[in-house]
Amino acid sequence: MVMTQRITVLGATGSIGDSTLAILAAQPQHYSVYALSGYHRLDKLLTLCQQFLPKRVSVPSAAIDDFAQRLSAAGLDIDVVGGEKGLIDIATDSQADTVVAAIVGAAGLPSTLAAARAGKRILLANKEALVMAGQVMMNAVKIYNATLLPLDSEHNAIFQCLPLAIQQDNMQIHQSSHGVRKLWLTASGGPFLGQSFAQMQQASVAEAVKHPNWSMGQKISVDSATMMNKGLELIEACHLFDLPENKINVVIHPQSIIHSMVEYSDGSYLAQLGSPDMKTPIAHALSYPDRIDSGSQPLDLYALSGLEFVQPDLQKFACLRLARQAMKAGTQATIVLNAANEIAVAAFLDGRIRLTDIADINEQSLNDIQLPPLNDTADIDDILAIDKIARHLTDRLVAKLV
Ligand code: NDP
Ligand code: MG
Repeated sequence: MVMTQRITVLGATGSIGDSTLAILAAQPQHYSVYALSGYHRLDKLLTLCQQFLPKRVSVPSAAIDDFAQRLSAAGLDIDVVGGEKGLIDIATDSQADTVVAAIVGAAGLPSTLAAARAGKRILLANKEALVMAGQVMMNAVKIYNATLLPLDSEHNAIFQCLPLAIQQDNMQIHQSSHGVRKLWLTASGGPFLGQSFAQMQQASVAEAVKHPNWSMGQKISVDSATMMNKGLELIEACHLFDLPENKINVVIHPQSIIHSMVEYSDGSYLAQLGSPDMKTPIAHALSYPDRIDSGSQPLDLYALSGLEFVQPDLQKFACLRLARQAMKAGTQATIVLNAANEIAVAAFLDGRIRLTDIADINEQSLNDIQLPPLNDTADIDDILAIDKIARHLTDRLVAKLV
């Protein structure tokens, strides 16, 4: 008998949700949708419920009754839960095998961590969870025998280029390097790579979220424009692969064909290439260690002319410098940086500040909010307490600017 993998998609209404569900829809023999979550886009969630017939769904608490009524009016018998508790409930449900963690921002941390503590197979898109709670998350994966597979294209590429022994040992390179010398994260450089800082200062929201190669949610698109995304990914990589920040280099590769590389001590560089389409890393993680058709376009290698590599300008893209600084300082600093950045990006998307103010706000928050290092027993409550302080103080910095 062929067993299907039962999947819960946290953040089903978003961009990663779309790509994941497209693969699941094309491979019903391998996968079934067990539970879905949405937040603002509840019309879309209703349509997804009609298409995928999940057993459970999570919405904001205030929307539970209304959504349940809409489901029953549509003739659907689906259990509706709500709020953070609802997300944790579906993330830990014993009926599901795999949890796709694709909520954006700190809001995704509690349910992702709960999935790790329930020993799930986690396909991780929500990089902010690792930026805030890398050690707590990685410990939980080990202790509760969960499996963590990265969906972020760079981390997924690195995973694919690592020796099998490291892939199977929770990706912990530091323990036993197997010849791995360095990791290289590639970055597209975003929509302002070829433009001056002054042009970047004048950028509209529409220009900032228009990524040259990838189609993504709004927050990560802004993060790509400031290169904060690569900064968050640097911190994510340190935790996932158990390496200090000085073992991870960032190189701008505007074509987004090489998704990242592993450098070995014998001088070999292993790279993973593919079209810039999140369906490839998602399909890889869904089917690992097998391979399935992702539905992404094959690369036209004959049409590729020239792959470029450029060193990032850390003055123009100060967020990348700040991420290294925060990683060196410790978890308390990466929590502050992540929270400050979420507040600053929201203020930019609301039209309250300029794109280039984001890096200034992030830097000021990092400098102003000096906290003692978190100790080894720190848990999610300590982390969320720092997140709250940082959000409050960053709100005040934004208010001073507008
Ligand atoms: P989107 O903005 O497209 O989707 C975010 C999802 O999270 C939506 O389902 C949204 O619900 C839900 N959500 C938003 N706020 C909350 C909240 N407070 N509580 C519960 N759910 C919430 O983002 P992406 O899909 O682009 O990104 C998701 C994550 O994956 C991010 O962490 C991003 O960094 C990461 N990632 C994304 C990539 C991409 O290509 N898009 C690539 C690599 C990583 P609703 O839409 O209904 O409001
Ligand atoms: Mg990425």
